[in-house]
Amino acid sequence: MLRLASTRTPLAQIAARHVPALRAPAFTSMPRLYSTANEELDLVVIGGGPGGYVAAIKAAQLGLKTACIEKRGALGGTCLNVGCIPSKAMLNNSHIYHQTQHDLKNRVDSVSLNLPVMLKAKTTAVTGLTKGIETLFKKNKVAYHKGTGKFLSANQIEVTGLDGTVSTLNAKNVLIATGSVPSGFPGIDIDEKQIVTSTGALDLQEVPKKMVVIGAGVIGLELGSVWSRLGAEVTVVEYLGAVGAGMDSDMAKAFHRTLTKQGFKFKLSTKVIGTEKLADGRVGVKVEAAKGGNQETLEADVVLVSIGRKPYTEGLGLENIGIQVDERGRIPIDSEFRTSVPNVRCIGDVTYGAMLAHKAEEEGIAAVEYINGGHGHVNYDVIPSVIYTHPEVAWCGKSEDDVKKSGVAYRVGTFPFAANSRARTNADSEGMVKIISDKETDRVLGIHIMGPNAGEMIAEGVLAMEYGASSEDIARTCHAHPTLSEAFKEAAMATYDKPIHF
Ligand code: FAD
Ligand code: NAD
Repeated sequence: MLRLASTRTPLAQIAARHVPALRAPAFTSMPRLYSTANEELDLVVIGGGPGGYVAAIKAAQLGLKTACIEKRGALGGTCLNVGCIPSKAMLNNSHIYHQTQHDLKNRVDSVSLNLPVMLKAKTTAVTGLTKGIETLFKKNKVAYHKGTGKFLSANQIEVTGLDGTVSTLNAKNVLIATGSVPSGFPGIDIDEKQIVTSTGALDLQEVPKKMVVIGAGVIGLELGSVWSRLGAEVTVVEYLGAVGAGMDSDMAKAFHRTLTKQGFKFKLSTKVIGTEKLADGRVGVKVEAAKGGNQETLEADVVLVSIGRKPYTEGLGLENIGIQVDERGRIPIDSEFRTSVPNVRCIGDVTYGAMLAHKAEEEGIAAVEYINGGHGHVNYDVIPSVIYTHPEVAWCGKSEDDVKKSGVAYRVGTFPFAANSRARTNADSEGMVKIISDKETDRVLGIHIMGPNAGEMIAEGVLAMEYGASSEDIARTCHAHPTLSEAFKEAAMATYDKPIHF
C-alpha cells in the first residue's frame, strides 16, 4: 500500500514546512503601520488582487514593512470585484432559481425571477469581502495606497492617488501583481452593454432573449450557465472541437452532452468573422467553420466575448527599469519569481501559468518567503481547476490525453455518480470520477471529476497528489457514508482493482 514512499515530497521539504526551527528566521518585532512616503519599506506590492493582497499580508506577518498599491478603489482585484466572487454569487443564485423552478415544480406554486435582487445580492457579497480585506490590512499593518503605481527606478515607486496626489515610495523589494484583463476580439467593439466581457455579463440589467458566447472556456460556460438558467437561449461558438479549454477529453465530451441537455447550443470548430448591428438593434455574429466554408449570422441581444485574458502592465513604467514582456505580454521570471531586475519579483496572472486566484495566492506567499530569506513552495503539478457550473467539473494533475502523449504506461478507474447513494438520494447524479495512475507504481497522475460538488471534492485529490499517494492509498482510506466522496474512493478502487458498487 505504501509503495510510493520514495516518490513523495522530500522529507526535508515537508519538515521545513512544519518545523518552525527549520524555516528561515522570521522577524519577531511587533508590526507597525508604515506609510510615510520617504521611509524605506521592505516591500511594495503593486496590485491588490488575490496575488498581491495575500503577499502583502504574509509579508507583514513576517515582520516586513509593507505597502500595497491598488488603483481600482477596492481591494481583491479581478477575483473579488469582477471575477470569482460575483460570478459565483450569480451561479449560486441562478442555480437555486432554476432548481426551484424545474426540480421542485410539483412542490412549489410558482417561482418568479427578481433580477435586481439577485444583482444586489452579488454586490453585497463583493462589498463585504473587499471591505474585509481592508480590515485584514489594518489588522496586519499593511499600508494601503489607493492609486496607480509606476516604477521610477527599481527602488522607487510613484503613486498617483485616486484623489490626484502624487507621492513616491522607496522600497528594498517590489512585487508586481498587476493581474490581467479580458482579451478583446480584433474588430469587435466592446461596449459592456450589448457586446460584453465577463464584467458586463455579470451586470446585465435584464435577461437577454438570445445570447451568443464566443469561447467555450471557463467564463463562457459559467456565465452562459447563469443566463441560460435565467431564461436566455445561449449559443456558444468555439474555435476548437471541444468545450472546456483543454480539459480531459472524456470529461469534455460528457460535459458537452450535459450542457446540451440543459439547453446550450454549441457551434464547435467554428470561427467568428465579426459582428454587425442589425436593423432591429440587435447584434449579428458572423461565423463560419474553422476550416472555412459557408458563413452564417447568429442573432443576439447580447454577445459575450470570452476568449481568454491577457497580462496587464499598462502604465507600470516597466521601461524605466528595463523589464521587457514576452510575446504574450507576460513578465518573465525565474524559479524564485525574480524578474530581470533582482529586487523586483512578479506573481499571478501577469506572469506565467494558469490564470487562477489560488495559483496567484500560492505564488504571493512563496515570493514573500523568498524575499524574507526562506524557501517558497508552489507545486505547479497539482494546481486544481474548477468550472462552477452544475454539475461542476474539477481536475488536477494530468489529463489522459497528456499521459498518453508522454508514453507512460497508465491505468484508469472511473466511477459514476449514478451509482453513488448520496447522489441518487439527492436526485443529482450526473457525472463521474476518473482517476489515472502510473501502471507500474500506482502513483496518481491525474484526477478528473464531473459531478455535484466536484469543486470541493477535488481538494481531497489535490492533497493525495501533493503527498504522492497511490490509487490504493485513496481506496484504503475510509470515507464517510453516505457521501458523494465515496464515489472518489470507488474510482480509486476501480483504478487499482475493482469498485464494489458498480
Ligand atoms: P488581479 O486579480 O487581476 O489583480 C490585479 C490588481 O492590480 C487589479 O485590482 C488592478 O486594478 C491592480 N493594478 C494593475 N496595475 C496597477 C498599477 N499600476 N497600480 C496599482 N494597481 C494596479 N479564478 C479562480 O481561481 N477561481 C474562479 O472561480 C475564478 N473565476 C473567475 C471569474 C471571472 C469572470 C474572471 C474574469 C476571472 C476568474 N478567475 C477565477 C480568475 C482570477 O480572478 C484571477 O486569476 C486572479 O484574480 C488573478 O489574481 P492577480 O492578483 O494575479 O490579479
Ligand atoms: P479560456 O482560456 O478558459 O477559454 C477561452 C476559449 O475561447 C477557449 O476554448 C478557446 O479555444 C476559445 N477561443 C479562443 N479564440 C477564439 C475565437 N477566435 N473564436 C472562438 N473561440 C475562441 O478563457 P476565458 O473563459 O476567457 O477565461 C479567462 C481566464 O479566467 C482563464 O484562464 C480562467 O482560468 C480564468 N477563469 C477561471 C475561472 C474558474 O476557475 N472557475 C472562472 C472564470 C475565469
